[in-house]
Amino acid sequence: MRTPYYLCEEELLEKNLKTLDYVQKQSGAKIILALKGFAMWSTFPLVAKYLKGCTASGLHEATLANEEFKKHNKDAEVHTYSPAFGDDDIKEVAKISDHIVFNSPAQLFKYIYVIKDTNPQASISLRINPEISSSPKDIYNPCGIYSRLGTTFENFDEKVLEYIDGLNFHALCEQNVDALEEVLEKFETDFSQYFKNLKYINFGGGQHITKKDYDVEKLIKIIIKFRKKYDVDVYLEPGEAVGWECGYLVSSVLDIVHNGMDIAILDTSAEAHMPDTLAMPYRAEVRGADEAGKKTHTYRLAGNTCLAGDIMGDYSFDKPLKIGDKIIFEDQIHYTFVKNTTFNGIKLPSLVILRKNGRREIIKFFKYEDYKQRLS
Ligand SMILES: *Cc1c(COP(=O)(O)O)cnc(C)c1O
Repeated sequence: MRTPYYLCEEELLEKNLKTLDYVQKQSGAKIILALKGFAMWSTFPLVAKYLKGCTASGLHEATLANEEFKKHNKDAEVHTYSPAFGDDDIKEVAKISDHIVFNSPAQLFKYIYVIKDTNPQASISLRINPEISSSPKDIYNPCGIYSRLGTTFENFDEKVLEYIDGLNFHALCEQNVDALEEVLEKFETDFSQYFKNLKYINFGGGQHITKKDYDVEKLIKIIIKFRKKYDVDVYLEPGEAVGWECGYLVSSVLDIVHNGMDIAILDTSAEAHMPDTLAMPYRAEVRGADEAGKKTHTYRLAGNTCLAGDIMGDYSFDKPLKIGDKIIFEDQIHYTFVKNTTFNGIKLPSLVILRKNGRREIIKFFKYEDYKQRLS
């Protein structure tokens, strides 16, 4: 198969979905997919069997949820949140969303009548910033200093209560249940006085539910307790936990150069295809490799763009690398192809699904036209 390509293993994806479904069944919470982290819609026939809908961050994701998720689950809900909606999109968003989540009271008051006119059934919510910051990385901390995401206690306006059915928060990133517990405590202290007429609370994403060490039973207990205490529905909206460890990115070594060390140039790119490598920064695991110096042969793995910093990291191997060798980056299904760019005209990796019956299916092969049509 031509490299580079992302391969999603259907069986592993379903394993994640079953874990999430277990949480739904035991706790009574509804779990929806955050498209921002995982939007491989060819898997939606499977995903929609388990999850109750999608959370979208604007018109395009909401449209995708409406077109590709709802057709496999007619009861699926589309929740749309945006840090700020604009006049151009709000009507269309209202038309196709079951829940609309505003970031500020000002946005809510500005657009509430557009929504009442366009889709009076739509449920309205406000995103809260619980102002408890525990995310390990600033770039992924929605409650960091000067955060624009969500309404703080100080900026909350009780007049919104006339319009809303729920409140949202999203405060976590790759975290275990203890972090949720901490956020909930603060959120309840500040906002439970407003829960009386609410139908739901959305706990957001960032909960690493499908990771091996995640305390699923404790999460279930917390949700059950919360639902009983306030008589509300609870939503969770993970992205990463859906696509967690269910596939990889395969690339080939195109050349090996030497400049103070051995450098392998791959047919993929950290900048364009594994952006968290540089943004977080984050080091992907490479199959069969170890940290630099641990095994006999160390290489810098680098991308095939002209950006000097397009580097995945330094890795060591048992045997010397050869041109044509495959390099497999593990766990590359969430927050990768949803962020890809055609920077430098580099080819986008194909999207492949390994079906449960063992067949590998290329679901998308990108061409020159995909690069060209984004420019003019
Ligand atoms: C990104 C995001 C999510 C999903 O977060 P994960 O870390 O992928 O689970 C959920 N809700 C909102 C509002 C988000 O911005």
